[in-house]
Amino acid sequence: MKSNYLSRLANNVSPSPTLAVDAKAKALKAAGEDVCGFGAGEPDFDTPDFIKDACASALAEGKTKYAPAAGIPDLRKALADRYHQDGILPEANPAQVVISPGGKYSCYLAILATCGPGDEVIIPAPFWVSYPEMVKLAGAQPKIILAGDDQGFKVTAAQIEDALTPATKLIILNSPSNPTGCLYEKSEMEEIVELACKRDLLVMSDEIYEYLLYDGTTHYRPGSFSAEAADRVITVSGFSKTFSMTGWRLGILVANPEIAKAVASLQSQTTSNATTFSQYGALAAVQNWTSAMEAVNEMLIHFDRRRLMLLNGLNAIDGVSCLRSQGAFYLFPKIADLAMSSENFSNQLLEDKKVAVVSGHAFGADGYIRLSYATSDEIIEKGLSRLNAFCQEIS
Ligand SMILES: *Cc1c(COP(=O)(O)O)cnc(C)c1O
Repeated sequence: MKSNYLSRLANNVSPSPTLAVDAKAKALKAAGEDVCGFGAGEPDFDTPDFIKDACASALAEGKTKYAPAAGIPDLRKALADRYHQDGILPEANPAQVVISPGGKYSCYLAILATCGPGDEVIIPAPFWVSYPEMVKLAGAQPKIILAGDDQGFKVTAAQIEDALTPATKLIILNSPSNPTGCLYEKSEMEEIVELACKRDLLVMSDEIYEYLLYDGTTHYRPGSFSAEAADRVITVSGFSKTFSMTGWRLGILVANPEIAKAVASLQSQTTSNATTFSQYGALAAVQNWTSAMEAVNEMLIHFDRRRLMLLNGLNAIDGVSCLRSQGAFYLFPKIADLAMSSENFSNQLLEDKKVAVVSGHAFGADGYIRLSYATSDEIIEKGLSRLNAFCQEIS
C-alpha cells in the first residue's frame, strides 16, 4: 500500500454538503421512506419545451462535435447583446463572454484566474458552500465576514473595509443569495463597489438567481454602476436556476477582456467547451427572450406561493423565526433559540421525522437551517407539520 495516495489539495477539500443532504434524502426515499426533502438546490420544474426542442434539433443536425472552448459564437454574441443592454458590458463584445460547463465552474475559473497563494478573498457568510473551497483550491485564503438575520444577512461596506489587508484581492457577492434568498439594495451594492474601486480590488458577482425575484423587487448588477465597475466586476450567471436547466451544465462569465481571455484559456486546458448541443438550447432561450421570460414568470407564480406558505408556516413554529427573503428559492430560518446546534438539529430532524434540510454551519452560519421551496405544496405542508412536531419535542 502506498502511504500517500492523495495530494495536499485533495486532502483539504470537502465534498459539497448540500449535494450530500440531497443524496441522503434521495437514498432514504429509494429505500421506501416517506421523506420531505427541502435540501434540493434546483428548481423542480421541467426545462421549457422550446429550449428542449432547440437542443433536440441541434442533436438531429449533428451538432455533436467540439465547439470553441469559450462557447459557440452565436450564444456569446446573443449574451453580449443582452449584457450590453443590462449595462455591464460597455460594448456588446462577445470576447468578454465565456460559456462554461455550469455557473459553478464559471465561479471557480473566475477565482482561479485572479487569485493564488498570498491572496485573500472576502466571502460574506452565510455563503454558498463552494466559495471557500474554490478559494482554497486556488491556493488563496478565504476571509469570512458574518452577517446574521439582524442585518438581513447582508454585509456592509464598512464590515468589508475592516477585514481588508494588503493581501485582499477579491470580494465575492451573491445576490439574490444562496442560502438566504436575500437581495442587496442598490445603495448597499454601490458602497461595496465603490470600496472595491478605492482599494484596487476585484469583485466576483454571482448572479445565478438574478431572475428569481419576488415582491416586485429589483436585482442590481454591480458591474453596471460605472465604467470602472464594469472593469473590476466579474459577473457570473448561468441557465440552471433561471430556466430549470441544472443538468444541462451551462454557466456564463462576463469580465474585462484580459480576465475573460485568461478564463477561456484555463477552460480550454481543463474541460474544453460546455456541451455543444446544450448551448443550442440556451441560444434559443436568449434569442426568444420574451418566451423565455414568460416561462420563468410561470415558474415564479409557483415559487412565490410556496415561499409564502413556507415562510408563514416557519414563523408560526415556536422557537423558529424567518426573514421574508425576496429572491432565489430558499428560506434561512433561525433555530438558535431551540438550543441545539444546526448540525445536530438537521441530522436529528432527518432521522426522527424524515425531513431533509441543510444545516446552517455548512454555509458558515450556525443557528440557522436552509430550506429550499423548490418542492410541491404537499411536501411543504407535510414538512411544516413534522418540523413543528419536532421543535415541540426538543424544546
Ligand atoms: C446553483 C448555483 C450556482 C451554479 O449552478 P450551476 O448549475 O453550476 O450553473 C452558482 N452559484 C450559486 C450561489 C448557486 O446556488
